[in-house]
Amino acid sequence: MNRKNFLQKSIFSVLAFSSFKGFSFKSSYNDSLKKMTLNEVLAETTPYTLAALPYGVDALEPHIDKMTMEIHHGRHHKAYVDNLNKALLDKPEAKMTLDELIKNAGKMLPMVRNNAGGHWNHTFFWSIMAPKAGGMPTGNVAAQITKQFGTLDKFKEEFTKAATSRFGSGWAWLTVEKGGNLTVSSTANQDNPMMDVAEKKGMPILGLDVWEHAYYLKYQNKRADYVTAFWNLVNWTKVEELYNASK
Ligand code: MN
Repeated sequence: MNRKNFLQKSIFSVLAFSSFKGFSFKSSYNDSLKKMTLNEVLAETTPYTLAALPYGVDALEPHIDKMTMEIHHGRHHKAYVDNLNKALLDKPEAKMTLDELIKNAGKMLPMVRNNAGGHWNHTFFWSIMAPKAGGMPTGNVAAQITKQFGTLDKFKEEFTKAATSRFGSGWAWLTVEKGGNLTVSSTANQDNPMMDVAEKKGMPILGLDVWEHAYYLKYQNKRADYVTAFWNLVNWTKVEELYNASK
C-alpha cells in the first residue's frame, strides 16, 4: 500500500468510525429535535415544529415512564403537528400563529381545531412538568391558591376532581381570569380554555392530559393514581412565571 492509499484508507476508517459512534451513542430521537421555548412554539406559523422535550424521555421516571413519554411525545404529539401542517397546506390559516389558531378554533374545521389543540396542549404540558419537581408553589400563585382554596391540598382535591371526572378523553386545567382569579376546569378532546368555544375561558397556567394514552401503560385504568403521581412533576416555578405573565 502506498502512502496516498494508506492515508485515504485511514481517513475513511476515521469517518466511518465517527458516524457509527454518532449513531450508537444517540440516546434518543429527542436529542435530534430542535430546542424551542414555549413562547417560540406558540408564535410559529406553518410549518409548525415538534420541538424537543425540555428534558430526557426518561427524566420523569418513575412517575411517568420512558416508554409512555416516547410514544406520547414522539408519536401522538408528532401526529398532531404533522396532521395540522397537512390540514393547513395552501390554506390562508397557515399564516396564523399557533396561538391565533387556538383563539379562533370555533371557526376552524374539526381537523384544524383538534390538531392545533393537540399541538398547543402538549407543548404546554411538557413545559409545566420537570424532573425532581413538585413540592409547594411559591410567590404570587401560592398566595392566590391559599386565598381562593384555603390550602394547597384543597386546591389539589378540586383539580383531581376535574381530572378524574372528565368522561373519556380530555384535559384538566388551572387558569387565570383577567384580574388574577384562578379557575379549575376541564375540557374534552384537545380543546382548551384559550379557545373561543371554551365554556370556562382563561389563560392556562397548569394542565394535565387525561387521555388514556398519557397513562395507560403504567397506570392502566387507575387515572387517580396517575393524577397523584403528577403532583411530583409540577414545575411550580414555571406555573408562577405563567401566572405573573398572565395578569
Ligand atoms: Mn396526549
